[in-house]
Amino acid sequence: MKAKTSGLLSEEVRDVAAGGDAAPEAGTDVENPYWADPPPHPCPEKGCIRRGLCCSSSPGWFAPGEIEAAAALLGLAPDAFVRTYCVIDAWDLPEGRVEVFAPLKLARDGSPALPPLSRADGWYRLLRGACVFFEGGGCRIYAARPAECRAYLCTNPPEQNLSHEQLARRWREGS
Ligand code: SF4
Repeated sequence: MKAKTSGLLSEEVRDVAAGGDAAPEAGTDVENPYWADPPPHPCPEKGCIRRGLCCSSSPGWFAPGEIEAAAALLGLAPDAFVRTYCVIDAWDLPEGRVEVFAPLKLARDGSPALPPLSRADGWYRLLRGACVFFEGGGCRIYAARPAECRAYLCTNPPEQNLSHEQLARRWREGS
């Protein structure tokens, strides 16, 4: 198998890719060997203290109706917004595959890890990359950030955060 050369990939990961390790498919929750545990929160009772660990690892997914608000915040039409800033990710529900919009993840050189409006693949999902809206330690679209970002707290047990399956169901139901 040919080694991947994405800017998201470290030498170590290229070695694994060359050895034939498969990246996860849509709709699978796997233990990610390329994500180290975050450093412990210095004061968990304070909740989010803007360490930026989530925004510099994997952008949250939008829910239906949120693209319009985020686009308006940047003075863009929704189609221009998704063509500039989003990828299409997916989750496989028992009823079928659901596609969703998510902010682009950046490669190590700051360029988009995939061209805008690409469909995310397993390697894109697996590897860590900063959100295209994460600038100067903050979110450029904070007032209209995705539902997953609004709900996420790194101190929560996973079941208290919004899951990709829950978001996929919202896209399927259109609400
Ligand atoms: S949209 Fe904003 S809050 Fe969500 S991951 Fe990107 S920078 Fe962070």
